[in-house]
Amino acid sequence: MPATRGKAVLITGGAGFIGSHLAERWLKAGARVTVVDDLSTGSWANIQHLAGRARLRALVASAGERELLEQLVPEHDLVYHLASAVGVKLVIDQPVKTIQTIFHATDVVLKVCARFRRPVLLTSTSEVYGKSAEAPFREDGDVVMGPTEKRRWAYACAKALDEFLALAHHHETRLPVFLVRLFNTVGPRQTGRYGMVLPRFVGQALRNRPLTVYGDGSQRRCFCSVRDAVDALYLLPQQPAAAGQVVNVGTQEEVSIEALARRVIKLTRSKSKLEFVPYEQAYGEGFDDMQRRVPDLTRVRKLIGWKPRHKLDDIIRQVAAEMRRRAES
Ligand code: UDP
Repeated sequence: MPATRGKAVLITGGAGFIGSHLAERWLKAGARVTVVDDLSTGSWANIQHLAGRARLRALVASAGERELLEQLVPEHDLVYHLASAVGVKLVIDQPVKTIQTIFHATDVVLKVCARFRRPVLLTSTSEVYGKSAEAPFREDGDVVMGPTEKRRWAYACAKALDEFLALAHHHETRLPVFLVRLFNTVGPRQTGRYGMVLPRFVGQALRNRPLTVYGDGSQRRCFCSVRDAVDALYLLPQQPAAAGQVVNVGTQEEVSIEALARRVIKLTRSKSKLEFVPYEQAYGEGFDDMQRRVPDLTRVRKLIGWKPRHKLDDIIRQVAAEMRRRAES
């Protein structure tokens, strides 16, 4: 594996939940890190603890600012494009912004990386599989998109278009692009503000408020620790064989949302009860949920020998501990 010390890494969305952990990972490896974030869903608080590091530079700007990227990209060895609209709630509430920011910024990042021939990793999402009933989802499996009248699918479609565009650059010019489909990444610093279920449940449990289970709670998800996900994001672009490939990153430890709620209550010793909320009430019209979402992990294992190490109960405990700390500070 090539040396990481002294490498220069640019991370768009680096003040976000996943981006901040990734910045920390690269700093630990001895790299120089530049974070570009418009703080729309990210926050300074996520990288405040890194602020004193001489090898970290943080800029408040949008990832779609071409002139800025044309200055920055040639100064870096590797680019991560994580800046994106996040969270089902945001996607439902602001569909125009979601589609535009996702597609426009990715287009600019790819153009600039192509111009300066810099390897680029894009984070995509398991949403791209849409309503496919396959289990587990393989990267080369079909995607099954829902109707355009249901706003949720705009996110999946925009992210799929990003993937097409990145792969097209790879095909036409051999630009090293790395595409990672993340499956329900969770951990400290994630906010529940944009709808993500785990920080919402933990926050509700710590306040002894009802845990809002949407639908009948039988829908299942696999939750992956951000620490594990970031290990994969760190290793993949250092593996040349991963260029031009889509790679799933997640766990196969499945849990229903109702069972998740009960585990959160138990592990936080909360007095909360469950409150079942119909989807229309939670998200309004134009919503569609998927029942299951399990990644096939063969590809990531073969490429970088990665497998998730953290168990869900430990992640829940970590998230609760961090929320308690934040509430006290
Ligand atoms: N969910 C829930 N209560 C909440 C927030 C989310 O029951 O307060 C459900 C949501 O409907 C979905 C699952 O939890 O079925 C995971 O939601 P999240 O938004 O975290 O990720 P998704 O898998 O939908 O992208």
